[in-house]
Amino acid sequence: MPKVVSRSAVSSSTNAQLTASSAAALCVYYCICGEFILVIDKNLNALPRRHSDKATIVRCQDSESAAARVFKLNAAEGESVLIERNGGHERQYRFSCPRCTLPVCYQSTPPPAKSGPFLYILAGALSQTQGALPQGALDDD
Ligand SMILES: [Zn+2]
Repeated sequence: MPKVVSRSAVSSSTNAQLTASSAAALCVYYCICGEFILVIDKNLNALPRRHSDKATIVRCQDSESAAARVFKLNAAEGESVLIERNGGHERQYRFSCPRCTLPVCYQSTPPPAKSGPFLYILAGALSQTQGALPQGALDDD
């Protein structure tokens, strides 16, 4: 006996679920001072981190193997700094909170944001709860 599947019913319920889950999956992040900084389509805890400074890696541009994350950043262009790392040097173009000017993320290319392949969110800089201390904010490293 062939199994009878109503294709139209299946596809319409799938579409409804997709819409609901993509709206629910948006994550909003705030600075320590309470300023809105970032809305993104994935929880930062689920994204990879750099080994060197534990910064969260957000992909800004599509590659052959991975799609860019969808996000909106509310941050001011800050200074560029040269970091010494493993005998080499790394240029970081920083972005800071528009209200309290704490640095929140950086990238390896000059502004605007998303001009490079990745954006790096500083460890402990952002919280999902407005006005709460971010997880890891008091870590030493
Ligand atoms: Zn702030």
